[in-house]
Amino acid sequence: WRWTGWNGWGLTGRWSWSVRNLQKAAIQIIYLVATPIGNLEDITLRAINVLKNVDLIAAEDTRHTLKLLNHLEISKPMISCHRHNENEKSNKIIEKLKEGKNIAIVSDAGTPGISDPGEEVVKEAIKENIQIIPIPGACAAINALIVSGIDTKEFYFLGFLPLNKKLRKEKLNEIKNINKTIILYEAPHKILNTINDLENILENRQVVFAREITKIHEEFIRGTIKEIKEKIENPKGEFVIIIEGNKNVENIENKLNLLTINEHYNYYENKGYSKKEIIKLIAKDRNVNKNEIYQKFINK
Ligand code: SAM
Repeated sequence: WRWTGWNGWGLTGRWSWSVRNLQKAAIQIIYLVATPIGNLEDITLRAINVLKNVDLIAAEDTRHTLKLLNHLEISKPMISCHRHNENEKSNKIIEKLKEGKNIAIVSDAGTPGISDPGEEVVKEAIKENIQIIPIPGACAAINALIVSGIDTKEFYFLGFLPLNKKLRKEKLNEIKNINKTIILYEAPHKILNTINDLENILENRQVVFAREITKIHEEFIRGTIKEIKEKIENPKGEFVIIIEGNKNVENIENKLNLLTINEHYNYYENKGYSKKEIIKLIAKDRNVNKNEIYQKFINK
């Protein structure tokens, strides 16, 4: 049921031509198509083919996507599906799919669903048993991370910091204590404000500001947050911020089996796990049989 070429929708080569065409009307597929984050050449051949062959494109901003479609010489009906109407538009998209239409979801730039519309439609489509296919491509977060020089093994994608003061403070506190690489998005006009907030919590951790990735003024600014602040007095363009994890925060999860069994139990209990879950987790951490742990806490 995967797309294998444009001679048949989503069918494998095992199917005969006639079967493919019979099936064509019955299969509804929703494609999440990644589009460029700046350089228009960053779109895959598969993405172009999908955009050419779907019945409808649901775009975050139809005017923005029209420019891309014009560049690719594709003419296709579009509907808008943005942050403020995603719930309502998801139903409309599902209706269209049920009518037998194949639909591509695109955002203004990069990968749909990553700090962009897409998530709600996917959830609805899953409920309706509709097939969903990702069409991979550009994503600002991943491209900033891979050239950052900061640990890529484990990372925490945080997206945009909340605007609400209290929630923002909570997130900044979280950043302060995370020992994994952190990825942030920030809107151009808020970058100075965010630099100031980060300055208060990051001390001398390494940070990379990835500016205008794939565009003419692409730049990767590396250093401590203080150094970066001096380097970018007048920030222009789009930024991804990559922050080194806090190396002073011990990775307690790796050291749980050094605790006594009761300390181990309390650790998970404080995190809100049920007795059954705790027993399972302890058994896994200590690589022992669940029953052995169960016996120890039978009366707890
Ligand atoms: N879905 C997109 C993706 O896959 O990367 C992200 C969309 S989010 C609404 C927009 C944010 O992504 C910007 O504020 C910026 O933080 C980041 N971004 C997008 N394009 C970028 C680029 N070319 N250079 C640097 N950051 C970019």
